[in-house]
Amino acid sequence: MSTNTTNSQNNNKKLLIIAASLTLFFALLEIIYGFISGSLMIIGDGIHMSSDAISLILSLIAAVVATRASTNKKTFGYKRFEPIAAFINGLTLMLVPLYIIFEAFNRMITPIEINPTQMLVVGIIGLVINAIVGFVLSKGQSNLNMRSAILHVVADLITSLSAVIVALAIIFYGLYWLDPVGSIITSIIIIRGGIKITKEAFNILMEGTPKGYSVENIKEVIQNHENEVEVKDIKLWCVNEEEIYTMIRIKSRQNFVNDIHVAIKQIVAKNTNIPVEHIYVDVQP
Ligand SMILES: [Zn+2]
Repeated sequence: MSTNTTNSQNNNKKLLIIAASLTLFFALLEIIYGFISGSLMIIGDGIHMSSDAISLILSLIAAVVATRASTNKKTFGYKRFEPIAAFINGLTLMLVPLYIIFEAFNRMITPIEINPTQMLVVGIIGLVINAIVGFVLSKGQSNLNMRSAILHVVADLITSLSAVIVALAIIFYGLYWLDPVGSIITSIIIIRGGIKITKEAFNILMEGTPKGYSVENIKEVIQNHENEVEVKDIKLWCVNEEEIYTMIRIKSRQNFVNDIHVAIKQIVAKNTNIPVEHIYVDVQP
């Protein structure tokens, strides 16, 4: 590995630590002030921000732990740590907002006193912190994870902005009902995100076909190049989001079994993003 890559990886780790600490700090502040001010919107956003902090911490742990060597007891190392944690995080994101929605309906029936000034202050702090986190993350190496993290922070900025707007509407027009309504809308958005995370993590844990890959495509690639072979079975799975493996069982009429092995591995590696060392070929005569 070149020093350049190591440096930018260390840099990304540092940026992730800053972003995670800021997000976690703000999440706790929101949950505490959500209860003090009585604003469900702020409590709901606090829960959402905690999950963001957990995701950032997970990316960080994954970056450190996933590189840990495998052992005889754990031949894949700790690579499944990320999908297991993401699955639990996703379930939490589906269940907790349901409680918020239930509470929002309760409050529409029996309204609770809200302190809109405290709500406004927390909303403004949220705007500032999300802007800082977005800026910090944008300083990192541009990869898919980082870009989606920045897009997510932009969405969070909009949520903080809506809390500020609702607080102002309560201060100037006394529109208290906007808080439960806003918290229901936010909860639905959080649940949708939770379903997506849970589904993706579940697919990894179930050894499902990784996103963007297809068994049919691999079968086609092999049979276009080698018409003497018959593809009997293909298994395609991933250990975590990054590492994809495939196991291909074929029947061949050729006698040069070793040559077929190598040829198929190279064809599949060339036509997919699966590295040669992750491709297992089993040839039956
Ligand atoms: Zn978020």
